[in-house]
Amino acid sequence: MKARSQVGFGGARNRHCYDARMSNSLPALFIGHGSPMNTLEDNRYSRVWRELGKGLPRPRAILAISAHWYVNATAVTAMDQPQTIHDFGGFPQALFDFQYPAPGDPALAEDIRSLMAPLPVIADHGWGLDHGTWSILAHLYPQADIPVVQLSIDATQTNDFHYRLGQKLAVLRNQGVLILASGNLIHNLRAVRWGENSPAYPWASRIEQRLKDRLCRSDHAAQIDYPTLDPEAMLAIPTPEHYLPLLYVLGAQRPEDKISFPLEGIDLGSISMLSICIGQS
Ligand code: ZN
Repeated sequence: MKARSQVGFGGARNRHCYDARMSNSLPALFIGHGSPMNTLEDNRYSRVWRELGKGLPRPRAILAISAHWYVNATAVTAMDQPQTIHDFGGFPQALFDFQYPAPGDPALAEDIRSLMAPLPVIADHGWGLDHGTWSILAHLYPQADIPVVQLSIDATQTNDFHYRLGQKLAVLRNQGVLILASGNLIHNLRAVRWGENSPAYPWASRIEQRLKDRLCRSDHAAQIDYPTLDPEAMLAIPTPEHYLPLLYVLGAQRPEDKISFPLEGIDLGSISMLSICIGQS
């Protein structure tokens, strides 16, 4: 059984996800973000994200797909200066005071809209960066000086639709854009066990391992059709929004891409903190 104390690097060779000398393609990441407090805390998760960030290249822009922009449309943030959205309640004031003042990239937003055609993609001026995005970027790129755009997840669409959008976005990896998907592969808030070293539910550990095995086999069909993974799937993924960002990364995966897991482990019994990096050279 994996507990919080077992979280760590997947291995020394995984620490530097990307070797800019060997590839013109940027990696794509899925990060399990967990609690918003990971933004402020110096803990086992934030420390791994900081270390991961040191090994990443400096992209010209970041395209973020967050579980927390789950709406009935596909939209992309198109403002010059996206606001830092504090889309939660009940946390300390310091978290509401946190700002991630990265610029936007309206030209990239327009490129993404063209890339998605004929799918209509809304040029959004009302959202910004939510905590799914900034809780991670605060550690990967703490200077907040790289333009960031967010893409929404359309709640009305099929899993296959999200995967195919990821395929369309893959070309951006060759254009200096880092794809960052943020969610949690296992995310059952009703089952959360509060406490520092709460043990993982056996079903959570089992399902995380099966998901990892499928990722290592590049079995995208099974990942897309996750509700039929096994009888326990709905325990681990009772709602889709924290899982779906993964499908964008898998869609952007190329056959030659290696896969690594910079961070593993179950937090609070029922939240997978698994991080996935594809495109490691
Ligand atoms: Zn979340």
